[in-house]
Amino acid sequence: MDRLDHNLDLNEINRAFAGEDPRRLLAHVVEKIGPARIALASSLSIEDQVLTQMLLKIDARARIFFIDTGRNFQQTYDLMEETMGRYEFHYEVYAPENSELEPFLAEYGPNAFYDRVELRQKCCELRKVRSLQRVLSTVDGWICGLRREQSPTRQEIDLLEWDSHHAIYKVNPLAAWSEEQVWAYIRRENIPYSSLYNKGFRSIGCQPCTRAVAPGADVRSGRWWWEEPGKKECGLHPVDIQSLDQTLNPSQR
Ligand code: SF4
Repeated sequence: MDRLDHNLDLNEINRAFAGEDPRRLLAHVVEKIGPARIALASSLSIEDQVLTQMLLKIDARARIFFIDTGRNFQQTYDLMEETMGRYEFHYEVYAPENSELEPFLAEYGPNAFYDRVELRQKCCELRKVRSLQRVLSTVDGWICGLRREQSPTRQEIDLLEWDSHHAIYKVNPLAAWSEEQVWAYIRRENIPYSSLYNKGFRSIGCQPCTRAVAPGADVRSGRWWWEEPGKKECGLHPVDIQSLDQTLNPSQR
């Protein structure tokens, strides 16, 4: 699919907004694309909490979605409630399709993600990626809290990208921010954040696949800690993702 006609010149925008306050870029893309056709993906991370506050200040109609895998921490659900109360909005919530998840659970059990990387990727596909595809089919652009320093796979991200996997724009307003800048904004604006961060968690996903990390350790080293670092994306932000059905032979699907 060709790029959508919203008068967004990637090179020009990346040049113009480099080093600028992320709110300027957010306001620009919301105005150009329109609040009904752009949405923020929130996993309730500190970055997503910053963007939620920024975005709702720009436009109270902003769409913010949460992918409920069914395996999230209770603290994440508690923070959802607190954030909705604070900013007076509702998340769009997307959950796995039972008809897709149930056969997988029946064949491999509830904890298959620990057994083989292919099964972990399949679980992520059924619980996250397909929900993401459903919501992204309703927009022309999505906003994410990715930062370059989060992992080796994210060092090249731009403020505004063309997401060829979903054929829409992808906006990374915090791409250049450090973790310290995120925390400074959280504290200055008194933004609610997950209590898990106070227990050593630095990147929070599903409960069975996330653990606390030692001070100074890589931010994402607590995610899928039993896997090699190069395979640690879940498919929401694919570097070179392919259909996972192709990686499982029929008896493994
Ligand atoms: Fe499944 Fe773990 Fe992926 Fe969550 S992070 S969808 S539990 S494999």
